[in-house]
Amino acid sequence: MNYRHAYHAGNFADVLKHVVLALCLQHLRLKDTPFRVLDTHAGAGLFDLDGIEAGKTGEWRDGVGRILAADAPPPPPAIIDLLAPWLAAIVASNDGVADQWHRYPGSPAIAAHALRPQDKLVLSELHPSDRNSLSALFRRDEAVKVVELDGWMALRSFLPFPERRGLILIDPPYEERDELVRLPGRLAPALKRFANAMVIIWYPAKSPDAVEHLHREVQALGGLKILRADLSVGIAGDAPGLSGCGLLIINPPWTLPGQLRQLMPFLAERLAQGPDASWKVEAFGI
Ligand code: SAM
Repeated sequence: MNYRHAYHAGNFADVLKHVVLALCLQHLRLKDTPFRVLDTHAGAGLFDLDGIEAGKTGEWRDGVGRILAADAPPPPPAIIDLLAPWLAAIVASNDGVADQWHRYPGSPAIAAHALRPQDKLVLSELHPSDRNSLSALFRRDEAVKVVELDGWMALRSFLPFPERRGLILIDPPYEERDELVRLPGRLAPALKRFANAMVIIWYPAKSPDAVEHLHREVQALGGLKILRADLSVGIAGDAPGLSGCGLLIINPPWTLPGQLRQLMPFLAERLAQGPDASWKVEAFGI
């Protein structure tokens, strides 16, 4: 396990993933009935953008920095509304001080920020130091459970949720060569146990064949409501670094397709690192 998210926290891929996560959580909050969140590959929870790791890559400057830096033009009001749940989690992670932010919330902090007294969050993380960070971050929070469990095992162990409502974030590092290819096979039994789960799967757009295989296989599971959102920041093919990523969302909020069709052109333009930045949103069974 070499992957450390601290080097990548707040990059363009995190912006897409976390804005959508926050919108999905906002939707779950519309009903008073409790929900639960399972973050199968949780990471450290909260990242210091002034820290050594973030400073080494500076990736956040072309991600959250493009949206929040003091000299970044403010997004149009309709886009600010869509970013608002994510922005609120960033402000909360910086002691409520909006203009002096240097901490960036990972998915656990974003999910924890959305919880109401009746809701729960389960975080599985295998890396010992990231897990220690999570345990320290949530030591006083009884609604949050940090487990030392393989994320794919957590997908078996914690479903269905007792609340029968909630969200699963699947955000592995894709260090195992076949992790993307194996994903549909690991997802199928989870959906059998908990058919109405909202599921967000993040994937890197490194191998177009592997990404198309993922979508084909998940659609082949049959009868699912699926939303797909792909973002490329247009880094030239021979340059280092991730140029694109996507989200596959199962049972998305009914409002999300429209929200993403508004949001993605803004993100593609604001986060572009080359002339070929692009976006795509597709809905299946919705
Ligand atoms: N979800 C986080 C966020 O958005 O802030 C980022 C997670 S990062 C992409 C993937 C994490 O999975 C890493 O922290 C890594 O240590 C952890 N990890 C790797 N293999 C794992 C496994 N089999 N089970 C659980 N966690 C794992």
